Amino acid sequence: MVTENIKARPLDGAVVAARIKEEVQAEVEQMVQAHGYRPGLAVVRVGEDPASAVYVRNKVKASEEVGIRSEHYALPESTSAAELLDLVNSLNARDDVDGILVQLPLPRGLDESAVIEAIDPNKDVDGFHPVSAGKLAMGRPVFVPCTPLGIIELLDYHGIELRGLNACVVGRSQIVGRPMAQLLLQRDATVTICHSRTRDLAATTRQADLLVVAIGRAGLIGREHIQPGAIVIDVGMNKVAEESEVRALFGDAAEKRLEVVAKRGYTLVGDVNPAAAAEVAGMLTPVPGGVGLLTVAMLMKNTLKAAKLRKCYE
Ligand code: NDP
Repeated sequence: MVTENIKARPLDGAVVAARIKEEVQAEVEQMVQAHGYRPGLAVVRVGEDPASAVYVRNKVKASEEVGIRSEHYALPESTSAAELLDLVNSLNARDDVDGILVQLPLPRGLDESAVIEAIDPNKDVDGFHPVSAGKLAMGRPVFVPCTPLGIIELLDYHGIELRGLNACVVGRSQIVGRPMAQLLLQRDATVTICHSRTRDLAATTRQADLLVVAIGRAGLIGREHIQPGAIVIDVGMNKVAEESEVRALFGDAAEKRLEVVAKRGYTLVGDVNPAAAAEVAGMLTPVPGGVGLLTVAMLMKNTLKAAKLRKCYE
């Protein structure tokens, strides 16, 4: 195995996301032509979390791009559980709403599980409902969380054969780690899941041909965690502002990133140390420009799927 001077090939998410959105747009227009029906997505946001506001704006914008009708409900921080559940129930009952998405996190005092469970599983385009998670675990997926689904699309687009690969997923959240592991298992990879209690993380991740990292700690995965030549998928999205940290993470590319920090106050970095990983991995998703772009594209695909299933088109 070659161990030195590997310059990881970037796995670009932009081209794949654009292609998925084009496909969805073409199918939406076909549906409008054939059935006079346009799929609808309702996006619900509660409170003033600035990151959530950006995510919701991106989802509404993507809907417009692909021709999906979108409704955006921005509720005040003071919204009660009963008011939120009433809204979800009214969206459940509407025949022109195919997908319902409640942006997380919700303000304190609102029970996220109760709200997610109130969504009609037939409209669960985020794939967070226990019915969706259960079906995925049984190998009969209907709606799968968008981030892991997008990662499979990315791997498929780049012609990566998953059958028999040693895959390691770091992180076991309901929205990324667990569904990712299930999808890889379904595609006949041999899957290991790591988390904060894993005893020797590096010894385990180093066995992986495919390493998917969804932790939420800037640059935690370094050279010692990666098998030379491995495919590394970095899901993490962390803000970094400290000059010394930017230099440690980006090596030769640090100056460019420091310009971003000067302009915006921070730069985005994944859970993988990009400078270290570039030297040892065979392929690596960039942050930004990798997995993040696919998440919204897959939401569009899930909404189209919900419309097709509900309306019995196809
Ligand atoms: P969570 O906080 O829900 O889960 C993090 C997981 O990482 C947990 O399972 C935790 O283990 C594990 N973990 C934490 N510290 C360590 C450690 N030191 N070693 C090993 N495992 C560890 O995060 P999410 O899954 O929601 O998100 C993960 C990252 O992905 C975040 O940076 C988030 O911003 C990003 N993200 C990006 C998306 C995109 O579209 N690009 C979409 C969603 C998330 P334990 O269970 O034991 O606590």
